[in-house]
Amino acid sequence: MNQTEVMLCMDIGGTNCRIGLCDRSFALYEAEIESTERMTKTGFCDELVSLLRRYIDRHADRYAILGISLGFPATIDKARRIVLQAPAIAGVENLAVCDVLERAFRLPVWLEKDVNLLFQYDLVHLNLPTDGLLIGIYFGTGIGNAIFWDGKPFMGRNGVAGELGHIPQLGSTKECSCGNVGCLEPFGGGKRLNELCQTEFSDACIRTVYRDHGDSEQVREQIDAMAIAVATEVNILDPEYVVLGGGLLQMDGFPTELFERMIRRYVRKPYPERNLRIVYSRPNQENGIIGAGIYGWSQAQRR
Ligand SMILES: [Zn+2]
Repeated sequence: MNQTEVMLCMDIGGTNCRIGLCDRSFALYEAEIESTERMTKTGFCDELVSLLRRYIDRHADRYAILGISLGFPATIDKARRIVLQAPAIAGVENLAVCDVLERAFRLPVWLEKDVNLLFQYDLVHLNLPTDGLLIGIYFGTGIGNAIFWDGKPFMGRNGVAGELGHIPQLGSTKECSCGNVGCLEPFGGGKRLNELCQTEFSDACIRTVYRDHGDSEQVREQIDAMAIAVATEVNILDPEYVVLGGGLLQMDGFPTELFERMIRRYVRKPYPERNLRIVYSRPNQENGIIGAGIYGWSQAQRR
């Protein structure tokens, strides 16, 4: 029987883990979802191994799995082998996940920050030239950031460059999920909208908060914090392109034009503001897994 060669890909999130098989042309097969919360209850790493074992057993007769590519919502070591810190997932601090999975499955394992995989997907699907410096900023519960130089993630000394959500804000005493006080993320991330729905707008549901309360001072401030995040990085890096995405931009009533105006207000004149190129991610739940596939195949070719 002819087997299709595939990468086993996982997009691990704070709420769900998505798993699938991605072929050389980045077509996705056998996609499934598992609850991250359920996995963390009994120990994330053991559950990850047994989830992958069951998945591989079910599909190994029809597919030739050449490697495993994983995205984590976490900081990751520079060698891309160890999950350092993941505020959204309990029990994965300093987890040498590549070693664990390579021992268990005798397959090469590649690990990357989830937002870098999302950005790889966007580079391919938005057909962007990868020469020079490009940035991606994704607004979900938190603020995800990818910085790519000539098509590769810029890592920094420790592998943790691009933590844009953790730029300190003057005068803020607000606690952040990273453990620091005063970060930008608690103002510009989706968590802030949740907080507003619970405290300020008792009738509101987070899905419609932009539509129903978009004119309020509190929501304007949240969008302003998003704009500060984008403008901060643009002013430092003067990138070729800025890709903007994430769940908040897809919400009912999100004021895209206002958001762009706010960004441009903070970006330095005349440049980089005059030549600023903003493109929008086309979101889909499966982008992260396909991004893991794109990454996995590019790593496999280097071996
Ligand atoms: Zn922080």
